[in-house]
Amino acid sequence: MVYDAIIIGAGPAGCAAAIILARSGLNALLLETSAFPRHRPGESLHPGVEPIFAALGIASAVKTAGFVRHIGHRIVWSLNAPEQLERFGSDDQGEWKGYQAWRPELDQILLQQAQAQGVTVWQPCQARAPIFNGNQLIGLDTDWGNIQTRYVLDASGRSQWLLRKLGLNTLKYSPQLIVRYGYVHCFQGPSIFDIPLMQRDITGWTWLARVRQERCAWVRMQFDGIDPGRNWRPPQLKDWVEFCPSKGENMTWRISETLATESWFLMGDAAVVLDPASSHGVLRALMSGMQVAHLITSTFRGNISKAGAAGLYSRWLREWFYHDITRLRELYSGKSREPALS
Ligand SMILES: Cc1cc2nc3c(=O)[nH]c(=O)nc-3n(C[C@H](O)[C@H](O)[C@H](O)COP(=O)(O)OP(=O)(O)OC[C@H]3O[C@@H](n4cnc5c(N)ncnc54)[C@H](O)[C@@H]3O)c2cc1C
Repeated sequence: MVYDAIIIGAGPAGCAAAIILARSGLNALLLETSAFPRHRPGESLHPGVEPIFAALGIASAVKTAGFVRHIGHRIVWSLNAPEQLERFGSDDQGEWKGYQAWRPELDQILLQQAQAQGVTVWQPCQARAPIFNGNQLIGLDTDWGNIQTRYVLDASGRSQWLLRKLGLNTLKYSPQLIVRYGYVHCFQGPSIFDIPLMQRDITGWTWLARVRQERCAWVRMQFDGIDPGRNWRPPQLKDWVEFCPSKGENMTWRISETLATESWFLMGDAAVVLDPASSHGVLRALMSGMQVAHLITSTFRGNISKAGAAGLYSRWLREWFYHDITRLRELYSGKSREPALS
């Protein structure tokens, strides 16, 4: 059997692509190496994600999940400046609210929707090696056997599976940036971080937010690129019990030099990584997955050539990336008053 598309990774990018492909009547196979629920950082979502949830058909499941909502961010970005509340905005329905979407649950909702739309899911199943016919990528070797496909979509996240397997060039746009993050139980007074706090100091920035009823998340990034270490904890949370050991991640700004060809596409973090102050990794993952799925559907319908689809997608994602790094540079050089957090 030859699939229309095989998608590697059931995070937001992979599930979004799978949902749209299946809805378009294409034959999609989704491979996920981990059993769900599995943890991922990246809870904070701008209210602008709501139309995306609706387009993917998960708006009511997200509502039922009851994620913590927030009206904006508290920001201390200039040194010695007072804290400022930056609201998302409002309309005649009331104040706009973002989500602290607990990722094991959000990703489970997305995966269930993909299955409900008819996507074949192999889990836990790891993509092991690409299979070529000449220069053409035609399939994958996986834990569950070899499979053939017309398109390979890589949504493997920061492991950047296909980029590594194909030996693609990565373009780096920042010095090394290591981000450390963790979670604490906050049985008392969790409400102080109901509105997340982004705080800059001389050596870096710290972000704090309540992400569950009794759980706070923190993220720390130092401007010198050095990991603050396993024992670092924001002073505000030092008396609270750790929920799990903190973790460091390399969030150096980077993009694959090649983002798509006539037989494969890179999506989400598998294509582009930016530090969390850019604040919309999940949104970019969802939108890149949807964009790729729409373009592939157009190639099957004969509305666009395969090369045209690869070119359009690469331009779109590259422009978004360069826009974000311009914003991040303004932020860190002090030209911008506040982080993107959009
Ligand atoms: C500390 C931190 C804080 C962040 N905060 C935010 C935030 O507040 N808001 C926000 O929007 N973003 C945030 N991000 C970014 C966000 O986490 C990512 O951008 C987002 O998860 C990317 O989604 P994805 O679908 O590309 O990849 P992922 O969510 O990483 O999913 C990739 C999937 O692929 C699977 N996989 C990998 N290799 C294989 C293989 N060989 N075979 C099969 N499956 C495979 C993995 O198991 C995983 O399930 C943060 C990141 C960090 C590190």
